[in-house]
Amino acid sequence: MITLALSKGRIFDETMPLLKAAGIEVLEDPEKSRKLILPTNHANVRVVLVRASDVPTYVQYGGADLGVTGLDTLIEHGTDGLYQPLDLQIAKCRMSVAVRADFDYAAKVKQGARLKVATKYTTIARDFFATKGVHVDMVKLYGSMELAPLTGLADAIVDLVSTGNTLKANHLVEVERIMEISSRLVVNQAALKMKQVDIRRIIDAFSAALPVHSAAAK
Ligand code: AMP
Repeated sequence: MITLALSKGRIFDETMPLLKAAGIEVLEDPEKSRKLILPTNHANVRVVLVRASDVPTYVQYGGADLGVTGLDTLIEHGTDGLYQPLDLQIAKCRMSVAVRADFDYAAKVKQGARLKVATKYTTIARDFFATKGVHVDMVKLYGSMELAPLTGLADAIVDLVSTGNTLKANHLVEVERIMEISSRLVVNQAALKMKQVDIRRIIDAFSAALPVHSAAAK
């Protein structure tokens, strides 16, 4: 049995065409079903639905053989025990720093002032500001980061930006782009050895279906 971990929504939807290219069709719609294990047209392939931030955990500990997860989630989780053969080039966005439109970010950074940063992505934010030599006080949040600068909880946020509409609607401006984000295929390293043929077939089919073939990366 091959188990693929996906999260509902954008990652699930954008992974479907890749699965189709591998000849795999999920037989139930996760938006209509309450099931967490979805069968496919292959008796030995199933999809498990987990929270986006739990995908690396499921794959690392063998609850799933493979999974699709954002680079943001992967960096925050860590990559121990995970083989990353493909950048799937889906769910693309960027990780950015944003502040209130009336906050002079450049001046604060230049002065060497401590910056209060609210984010769900503390590893990425810490690394970024450490590289810049900016001292930060980190406030860990689990959602609605945009609210933090508006309420005085923080000077800046580090969050995912796609169209920029959410920032704009909350009178925030993007002041730094930290990194480009897309979803990655992750594979349990032990499963890759034990189920080599079946997993390789899926990796190769996904790879062939990508707009630009991405090289295998560890
Ligand atoms: P936007 O308004 O299009 O810039 O989208 C920003 C909001 O959507 C933020 O709250 C992000 O956390 C979320 N978001 C955007 N792109 C992604 C993505 N690829 N994966 C997860 N969340 C995203």
